[in-house]
Amino acid sequence: MIIDGKRADASDRGVIRILNPATQEFIDIVPKATASDVYQAIDAAQAGKRIWANTPTHERVRILSRCADAIEEHLEDLAQSLSREMGKIIQEARGEIRVSAQTIRGYAEAAAHHYGKTLTDSQKGIEKDILFTRHEPLGVVACITPFNYPVLLVAHKMAAALATGNAVIVKPASDNPLTLIKLVALCLEQGIPGNVLQIITGSGEVVGKILAENPKVNAISLTGSTEVGISLAETGAKTLKRVFLELGGNDPFIVLDDADISKAIAAAVEGRLENAGQTCCSSKRFLVHESIHDLFIKKLLEALSKIKHGSPQDDETEYGCLINGNAAQKVESQIQKTIEQGAKLICGGHAYNITYFEPTILDDVTLDMDIAKDMEVFGPVFPIITFKTDEDAVKIANASRYGLQAGVMTKSVDRAMHIAASLQCGAVVINGSGNYRHIEQPFGGYKMSGFGREGISGTLAEMTQEKTYVLKDVLIQP
Ligand code: NAP
Repeated sequence: MIIDGKRADASDRGVIRILNPATQEFIDIVPKATASDVYQAIDAAQAGKRIWANTPTHERVRILSRCADAIEEHLEDLAQSLSREMGKIIQEARGEIRVSAQTIRGYAEAAAHHYGKTLTDSQKGIEKDILFTRHEPLGVVACITPFNYPVLLVAHKMAAALATGNAVIVKPASDNPLTLIKLVALCLEQGIPGNVLQIITGSGEVVGKILAENPKVNAISLTGSTEVGISLAETGAKTLKRVFLELGGNDPFIVLDDADISKAIAAAVEGRLENAGQTCCSSKRFLVHESIHDLFIKKLLEALSKIKHGSPQDDETEYGCLINGNAAQKVESQIQKTIEQGAKLICGGHAYNITYFEPTILDDVTLDMDIAKDMEVFGPVFPIITFKTDEDAVKIANASRYGLQAGVMTKSVDRAMHIAASLQCGAVVINGSGNYRHIEQPFGGYKMSGFGREGISGTLAEMTQEKTYVLKDVLIQP
């Protein structure tokens, strides 16, 4: 961990072992923080938040831009580390580090132009007053992040909070915190003070819970499961801290009868197999028009048979492994449950080599099955649900408690726009999978997929509070 600028062990010397999920080889240990370690970091951040709030924006922008440069200079080392500790294929790991650097630079650039307002003299009787607003930092922002995009998701939270003058405490997922520790160390070398950016490793139930309940922490930004989000929102409410939640999804991928099938298959495969299916906005339910059902399955089988499985560190590998054996067992049991509920297994269905999972097609999935509604599967599973009309497709898509993103494949702009407007979700991709994120996009979900939006176009405002200054009776009309 890095607390107050210094490498730190847990006060009771507890550790978490980090394994390479592809090989089960031991990589390293990290501290398992105790409550007193967390309090130490929160206390350090009290001084940090004052230093950083008083650091001018141009200086914060300059330092954050240097962080982005340093990450790019160390791209290969960080990508190899990420691939090893999570089984993400190396091409995707390089992409994640590259986009993380771009994200940090993007927030820094936007912060230089994050203006307040000057209000108009629109109210009768007080037209001689001048009112203007300034964005002030919240104070201490805790960033709690999941295992699946461990670097990019921290980059969004940390850069938005730091660019606007907050002190940050990062709590990474316990499965794969190593690359993030390297990244935080690199950022500190670029000039961010040690009490302004800290990283604490340890269990979510201890570290995350203390961060959520402590009154000296002013905001929590979580990306993670809906269950953890609900518990953090409940805890955070007791001190009325801001809680931003980017949570789970069960995103539909809708293929209309007029869709270009080759493009639909390519989008389905990319949308489901990226990151081995462990993405919040992966396409997770495949709604296919009944007239093209047989063709869709035939072509999907062909495409899946060509995917290159292998070591995540091999440049040729297109599909890696899941984060750990428990994750693979969970996917296997979710498939089993869906078969028991009446679905037909077309291919796959099993874990192999502990953490690898066969790409799986489940046919004859109907709306009464859990997988068609609220069961999020974090693995390479394609449940196929047929529909007759566009209205049916919308009804099925909206039947989930989640509403993160969606994809619609069709040649008709009118039909696509009608469906997009009817879907209850944060973004709709037309002629592509909903497995999509632009760094500027206000990314986030409807319903139980969370609240708040994350992206350069909006998060700077979320990480600040707007203060109004009033100069009374100063406006002399010419
Ligand atoms: P998770 O189990 O919810 O964990 C997320 C983070 O919360 C981890 O750092 C975890 O720490 C911590 N945590 C666990 N229990 C906690 C508690 N009681 N209080 C405070 N913090 C706690 O999620 P995951 O399995 O890593 O990630 C997968 C989930 O994240 C999926 O549902 C996925 O859809 C969602 N996700 C959403 C987005 C989005 O942008 N909407 C993006 C990516 C992922 P430990 O690791 O120590 O348990």
